[in-house]
Amino acid sequence: MALIECPSCQKRISSKAKECSHCRAKTDGDNESVRIISHIQQSNKLMTHSFVFLTLFIAGVVIWFWGGETATGLQSQIATGCFVFGFVGYTITRARIVLHKRKSV
Ligand SMILES: [Zn+2]
Repeated sequence: MALIECPSCQKRISSKAKECSHCRAKTDGDNESVRIISHIQQSNKLMTHSFVFLTLFIAGVVIWFWGGETATGLQSQIATGCFVFGFVGYTITRARIVLHKRKSV
């Protein structure tokens, strides 16, 4: 549990407290460090998502060309599935990262 300064009276209070124990000022939505931490956590989550989708995308390409020949039948369906899902997911996640970065901390 971290200690932060109350935005109104500057006394030390818990970062988890919804209001200051000294002056009863609401800390909700006005808590700088908690906001920054959640922003970073969201960034990390999006980075993980984009990495997973990119891996899926590459897996699709690898499956497609597995064995040196172009895939046929079930193999091509799995490859296309990974490829398309990975590509779409990656594009969406990249867009979300850009939007997330634009949002001021
Ligand atoms: Zn206070």
